[in-house]
Amino acid sequence: MIITVAKSAGFCFGVKRAIKMALNAAAKDKQVEMLGEIVHNEDVVRNIEEAGIKKISSLVSGKNKILLIRAHGEGKSTIENAKKIGYTIVDATCPMVKEIQKIAEDLEQNGYDIMIIGDKEHDEVQGIVGNIHRQAIVIDSVEQIPHEAVKKIKKAAVIVQSTQTIENVDKILNVLKNSIRNLSYFNTICKPTRSKQKEIKVLPLKNDVVLIIGSKTSANTRSLYEISKSLNDRSYWIQSENDIRQGWFEKARNVGITAGASTPEHTIDSVVEYLERNF
Ligand code: SF4
Repeated sequence: MIITVAKSAGFCFGVKRAIKMALNAAAKDKQVEMLGEIVHNEDVVRNIEEAGIKKISSLVSGKNKILLIRAHGEGKSTIENAKKIGYTIVDATCPMVKEIQKIAEDLEQNGYDIMIIGDKEHDEVQGIVGNIHRQAIVIDSVEQIPHEAVKKIKKAAVIVQSTQTIENVDKILNVLKNSIRNLSYFNTICKPTRSKQKEIKVLPLKNDVVLIIGSKTSANTRSLYEISKSLNDRSYWIQSENDIRQGWFEKARNVGITAGASTPEHTIDSVVEYLERNF
């Protein structure tokens, strides 16, 4: 069986950078804490915790402590509050997420209502919302467009969560264009996501079976899986080689592999080795 691993599979630049910054911070003498998980991958979170970094759910006292800001970023008030109660901040927000936060801030200052195409619950979206003053409208699918609220908007700017698919963005944008006369649009899908999505439009067509590796909590892995599944029904979302089933590969001559932005290289290597050993 021929195995092809997508060039863009696995850690993106922002995740690699955040993990490196986290491990550097852990080497200092202060206790390092982070609000939630550094990235959406259980293996990575475990390694970070083993290095001594503590996951917390709220800020209590920051005396002699470092607060690590994760790749997806945080709202301004959280960071300011952390500083006030004594934390030293190590900001591992991905520069591309920072750029989106900055675009949103500038647009708001220029009188635009901010609309974000993305997942309301996702840390990145919450961080963007937390960096502007007025309430942003977050839309994750065309079915969830709040038409009543949208009708009242005169001047709006649409920005996009870095890991969205362009197909979802286009669908939502087409509806918004018909409702808001003064609408500006900024495609803020990041470069690593674009590369991954470009490859996943070809990989399922060139392979009998496609494996998409990543945590079930990873939004960008979900997007990769959904695109792949729409092009090739024999697409499977796995977290590690333990999820692989023999029956998936019946008469398969080739398999394509990709992985979400928070999937470590060793997980991808283990899947490849497993396939080489067993098929
Ligand atoms: S997916 Fe894009 S925006 Fe998110 S951490 Fe990676 S490079 Fe940064």
